[in-house]
Amino acid sequence: MTLAELQAIEREAVIPSYARFPVEFVRGEGCRLWDDEGNEYLDFLAGISVTSVGHCHPDVVAAVSAQAARLDHVTNLFYTAPAMRLAQRLSRRSLGGKVYFANSGAEAIEAAIKLARKARPQGEIVVVEGAFHGRTYGALSATPQESRQAPFAPLVPGFVVVPRDPAALDAAVGQRTAAVLLEPVQGETGVHVLPDALLEAARAACDRTGAALVFDEIQCGMGRTGTLWAHEQTGVVPDAMTLAKALGGGFPIGALVTNPRLADVLAPGDHGSTFAGGPVAASAALATLDVIDDPGRLARVVELGQRLADGLAALPGVREVRGRGLMLAVEVADAPALARRALLEQRLVVNATGPTTVRLLPPLVVSEAEIDDALRRLAALSA
Ligand SMILES: *Cc1c(COP(=O)(O)O)cnc(C)c1O
Repeated sequence: MTLAELQAIEREAVIPSYARFPVEFVRGEGCRLWDDEGNEYLDFLAGISVTSVGHCHPDVVAAVSAQAARLDHVTNLFYTAPAMRLAQRLSRRSLGGKVYFANSGAEAIEAAIKLARKARPQGEIVVVEGAFHGRTYGALSATPQESRQAPFAPLVPGFVVVPRDPAALDAAVGQRTAAVLLEPVQGETGVHVLPDALLEAARAACDRTGAALVFDEIQCGMGRTGTLWAHEQTGVVPDAMTLAKALGGGFPIGALVTNPRLADVLAPGDHGSTFAGGPVAASAALATLDVIDDPGRLARVVELGQRLADGLAALPGVREVRGRGLMLAVEVADAPALARRALLEQRLVVNATGPTTVRLLPPLVVSEAEIDDALRRLAALSA
């Protein structure tokens, strides 16, 4: 089918909740994508930090193909080995408690909110200005952005918003607080690394009050910043953490990971999902972790991130470079125009998170040559 035919179907039959670029992708490999006319693109968005191991990584394809051919789905009424193995691996490699599986980031956030509220009934959830936690009702209520929330009021009650300020956060947390929820690196609102002092204040406030400190590592986790979990670079350890995006290497899976204290808060019947933790998605996640959770790979993310950040800072028209590892953003005069021209004129996939912010999230398997190629393509746009 041609792009024009797909666009005609979209106009007829697809709810217009997305503004798509006029490109149809038909194939991917590593950091490359191909459109329906055979044109090759360099992908520095990775499906919004999802295909961190590159498109169609052979180990992920093999794991998914083998599992799909053997057993597809049975629900959580039964045991399957991939889900149990993945839970054990995530727990041992992070907070040492237990894991609840979901199908997406927003669902992992919903599970975190339910768990925190059950641990402290009627409790409030404190969130930070500039946060993005997803678009379902609980997750949207935790996402303090007028334009995203206003059309869908009334929201879920019990959410408190604080500025990115340690004293304000500390003052907002008390005996009524069930959880402080934050992204160590805010992604959707333009890649803002939260200051260590803010995370430390959140940790201290939760220790003082018994509230749960929940880190949303849906975008910044899974090696994106150069350590498997972004919080490893801050010295602050949360009580629970949400994961999704890159966890499944391109396949939909999310997770809530807890420490031992919160591990048994949810009891049978409290929460659930038909698809969650299915064997195909869990197999994809195990294969993805095999690729990403490797000290050499993670050290490379830091090196490559530095190379990309340095190159971006040297581009004409770039006013600021922010981020950590391979989670980067640049401030420019007109970000939507730059992202569009990068795609259509230079065949480089990036995205604008706001009027002046372009975000870059290349696959973690990107090479030096590909980084230099992306920088050349961006430089050509300002030439
Ligand atoms: C993408 C994202 C979510 C929502 O994940 P979905 O899978 O789109 O529901 C939540 N939190 C953060 C930090 C994200 O980047």
